Amino acid sequence: MPRSVPTICPYCGAGCGFYVNVEKGRATNIEYMADHPASEGALCSKANASLEVLYHPDRLLHPVKRSGDQLTRISWDEALEAAARGLAGTLRRFGPDAIGILSSSKCSNEENYLIQKLARLLGTRNVDNCARLCHAPSVVGLNRSLGAAGMTNPFADLANSRCIFVIGSNLAENHPVMSRWIHKARSKGAIVIVADPRRTPTSWMADHFLQLRPGTDVALINAMASVAIEQGLIDRQFLDLWTCGYQELKSSVKDCTPSWAEGITGVPAEDIVSAAQAYAASPASSILYSMGITQHTTGTDNVQALANLALICGQIGREGTGLLPLRGQNNVQGACDMGALAEFYPGYRRADDPSSIEHFRQAWSASDLPVGRGLTATEMIDAAADGRIRAMYIVGEDPVNSEPHGGHTITALESLDLLVVQDIFMTATASHADLVLPAAAWAEKEGTYTSTERRVQWSCRAVDPPGEARTDLQIVCSLGKRLGLPLDYPDASAVLAEINRLVPAYQGITRDRLGPGGLIWPCPSVNHPGTPILHSSGFKTADGRATLLPVHYRPPAEKPSERFPFTLTTGRIALHHNAGSMTRRSPSLMQRAPNLFVEINPADAARLQIEDGDDVEVSTARGRTRAAARTTGRVSRGVVFMPFHFPGTNILTPDARDSQAGIPEFKVAACNISRSD
Ligand code: SF4
Repeated sequence: MPRSVPTICPYCGAGCGFYVNVEKGRATNIEYMADHPASEGALCSKANASLEVLYHPDRLLHPVKRSGDQLTRISWDEALEAAARGLAGTLRRFGPDAIGILSSSKCSNEENYLIQKLARLLGTRNVDNCARLCHAPSVVGLNRSLGAAGMTNPFADLANSRCIFVIGSNLAENHPVMSRWIHKARSKGAIVIVADPRRTPTSWMADHFLQLRPGTDVALINAMASVAIEQGLIDRQFLDLWTCGYQELKSSVKDCTPSWAEGITGVPAEDIVSAAQAYAASPASSILYSMGITQHTTGTDNVQALANLALICGQIGREGTGLLPLRGQNNVQGACDMGALAEFYPGYRRADDPSSIEHFRQAWSASDLPVGRGLTATEMIDAAADGRIRAMYIVGEDPVNSEPHGGHTITALESLDLLVVQDIFMTATASHADLVLPAAAWAEKEGTYTSTERRVQWSCRAVDPPGEARTDLQIVCSLGKRLGLPLDYPDASAVLAEINRLVPAYQGITRDRLGPGGLIWPCPSVNHPGTPILHSSGFKTADGRATLLPVHYRPPAEKPSERFPFTLTTGRIALHHNAGSMTRRSPSLMQRAPNLFVEINPADAARLQIEDGDDVEVSTARGRTRAAARTTGRVSRGVVFMPFHFPGTNILTPDARDSQAGIPEFKVAACNISRSD
């Protein structure tokens, strides 16, 4: 009998739902989910092509082990035994801090919960996920300012916004289905402000487009705050009731005049004033941002500056307002909620707080658990390079392509005594592994995923995994058992039941309540309807008030120089996703977006005698790569842009990091560009 199985899109954090139609055990096509609350039946090109990935001939079918330069097929028994023996040996010889575990924001909540539990029961503090590369500054900055890091309002609520400020996000390409909500708001008269170093399809929606220099966001946002204060557009009643620190903030932005900001950002002062007036004076304004804000050495400052702006204008805690950080991967929100982070146990219980440790020690019947912040994903790569980390277990991540300074990442992974990689394809990272474990893809397993809206949805299993591939949940439990750890769960529902007990925001999100559209956390009891809008009756802080935290403009870590006179900025395009391990295996997407390119302003191209389509070399202090030139007015003079979905881009990006959240500065690198003759 043909079946229609409800699943959640495996790509971005928007969390669109669709059905996989199955006949005779094979997924035949996808069908739109018209009643889905966020996507309303729409899907973008990536989801429409997702079955191509499921049935790609490159899928890993059997465990393999390295012998010299060869990877040879082995049984699951041999693979799990070798992985367990290697991890136990590292533990014995070098202690738990010599083990690093990367969890996957492509995996379900239940799988992330188990991966971080395995890490902590093993005794290592070093567990992290790729949120470190996208929204760690939101986790740090919003928790500090507001007491909670989630997106404050759901997408559908944008229809109630009268002004929408999009900064550092090209959502028309990166969260395309969600940009429909901005179009809806516009058609009802909302004003749209877009700030970005590039003219993108998102900027085409803008009434005010602010083309700022890369890495100058704090100057722009502080100047907007200064205009709001100077022109009396702030919400005094809201400030008095719900915030602390206003006087300090006011004096910190006093000198951040629009003309000062113009000198730093390149945005005309009068445009800054108009944008600030539109945002502050509207009855309901929302802010949407993404990695253009977070992937900087000032990522946390950028997030806090945005929180300050929203708070002084009282644009939070109501319909049509709020801060909406757009998460990149389908379950990056859930991976963080589940504690797959160096500084947090599940439910954002601090890893350096002994009471958190005692709570989980008792709940997990563990004799001991590690206390204190572990190494972040990027720090684990450094630690592998200098010998502090000797073994890594990497689930569903491809740091060779996703971490900055790719050459350094390869050297680090090759220095390990043991590298175990679990994935659906032989990624660039897996090709350096000692053991590769074949995993099931999204439609081959069940479990919950938490979208960027905090919407927790159950995705059903449509088909069986290919060959001998197993679900990540099965693999982690089997590995845990071989290591003597109590990880014995029959299925995702059993893990979710434990999450319901231990993570307060998920307490009421039980398996039997998860119908179409899911539930939005916090959902503290089984009778609770979920919480679409955060902070409507105060903030999740000790006194219920948000904190205004002054931040000061600091330039990016790298400046253009004589040797590297351009600024390279990176980002995503509509037809590919993240490191590209899935979308580069989709023939229909590859036909339309086949290769790495670099955008360069026509005036710069003419000076360098580069023509559109030329093969060029882009170099930084860390390496060089080749790409096809695209001459376009989308980028300003002196700025070049490359997407990061192809091997090559992250060879160039810098090691410099935000000292507060540990995110690398993917968005600004000094580079050179020349024709490759
Ligand atoms: Fe999938 Fe994101 Fe596209 Fe929705 S917008 S279909 S979640 S990639």
